[in-house]
Amino acid sequence: MTTTEPGTSESTSNPPGDWEVVIGLEVHAELATRTKLFSSARNEFGGEPNTHVDPTSLGLPGSLPVLNEKAVELAIRVGLALGCEIRPSVFARKNYFYPDMPKDFQISQYDQPINVGGSMELPTGQVVGIERAHLEEDTGKSTHVGTSGRISGADFSLVDYNRAGVPLLEIVGRPDLRSAEEAATYVEELRQILVAIGASDGKLEEGSMRVDANVSLHHPGEALGTRCEIKNVNSLRSLRRAIDYEAARQVEVLEAGGKVRQETRHWDEAVGRTLSGRSKEEAEDYRYFPEPDLVPIAPDAQWVERVRASMPLLPAQRRARLAVAGGVRATEGAVVIAVQRGLDDLAVAAIDVGADPSRVLTHVEHNLAVEGADRLGAASLAELVGMEVSGELTATQTKTVLAELLASDGAASPRDIAKAKGFEAMDSSALESMIDEVVAAHPAEWERYVADPSQRGKLSGFFIGKVMKATRGQADGKVVTGSLLRRAG
Ligand code: ADP
Ligand code: MG
Repeated sequence: MTTTEPGTSESTSNPPGDWEVVIGLEVHAELATRTKLFSSARNEFGGEPNTHVDPTSLGLPGSLPVLNEKAVELAIRVGLALGCEIRPSVFARKNYFYPDMPKDFQISQYDQPINVGGSMELPTGQVVGIERAHLEEDTGKSTHVGTSGRISGADFSLVDYNRAGVPLLEIVGRPDLRSAEEAATYVEELRQILVAIGASDGKLEEGSMRVDANVSLHHPGEALGTRCEIKNVNSLRSLRRAIDYEAARQVEVLEAGGKVRQETRHWDEAVGRTLSGRSKEEAEDYRYFPEPDLVPIAPDAQWVERVRASMPLLPAQRRARLAVAGGVRATEGAVVIAVQRGLDDLAVAAIDVGADPSRVLTHVEHNLAVEGADRLGAASLAELVGMEVSGELTATQTKTVLAELLASDGAASPRDIAKAKGFEAMDSSALESMIDEVVAAHPAEWERYVADPSQRGKLSGFFIGKVMKATRGQADGKVVTGSLLRRAG
């Protein structure tokens, strides 16, 4: 045994030796319906405990499920977004006992799920397979009161059924991920897709998306190893930490000649460890059988086509569109960020009306990371970029004008702002004579600048500073650098 704790570092590095970590994620997404999956109780986060309930979500005897059509439509939307085949599907009873599920069974889909196969393209270009995405009902929420916070050792437990019966889509990814970082990228991309198509609000912090991470180790090229399923991962940070910890734990087990036991493990965020839970059930333990109170769903082709026609552009399609407009690759950081921030429409529109693509992408990446940036008009941005490219404004002045534009909520024009700020374009002969003066005033520095090219970087900073001071910030640093180089010969 080593003495250091595995997985305590925040980095997401690969395990030592030639071990490769293999990850497959199961994401539960709460669907953004108004009511629950099988009843008219409200589907809404929070609220006083046990106020969004009715006989069906409480599982009272005699209550019957009635399927929510909107939930099926949202499931189809997700299926289409992930390139799944939309299939006729059957609800099944998954039998188990837990106080947060008073019927003692969960209605889920089992061997005939609604969405089968599919894939998702990450911003890195990596394509991850999707096994299936099936509908099921959420359970209630139990709170174990006591020092441990777990059911074992609790003084008593409380149950809130507000969440019971909320529609969930369980999206089962293939074991195609190879690092904690890739796993986090996958979850973030999936979140963006779900939000873009209106299927879920994607709020991890409210449990609208919950991730179970299956982690195993193997040597590349060999068969996959035995996996552990990590539950209770509530943020991307926890996901990364939990995977790194679990990979390191399994390396230790395997290097010591042991075997990884297939089991469910819980991530304890406070301690930074995964702890052994139950050993993993097999499907037969659940005694699945078709739900007798619900008929199979068979979405007809016209319905599916109507849903398809109403789909917005997906994040990957938006990245591709912006990449074409900007003349760069879709994996370019600025492109990924533009789509993440919802600024790609603005960027594409500004480029369309003639703005320099690379300046537009730079502004989106570095200067528009603020609330309300999407309300900026494309024409304003294009005008500003035009002034920048023509040398009417320096880079610093452009940033200032941009900030004012955002503050005015797009009401003012870039040219008016520039004028009000006194950002007159500096006449180039005036600038040259200013540089003459600055150079003449610092002969020792100038001599070194001319004699020693290795010092030029540092010294041009010195001269730019002096010129800026003399021109009260109106000079363009790049123009000054060019002029100095020309003078030095
Ligand atoms: P379960 O009933 O155990 O939840 P599922 O079929 O719903 O099984 O999900 C299996 C998940 O485990 C999938 O996300 C899949 O990608 C992942 N998985 C399967 N085998 C491995 C493995 N060897 N290593 C890591 N993940 C795996
Ligand atoms: Mg599962």
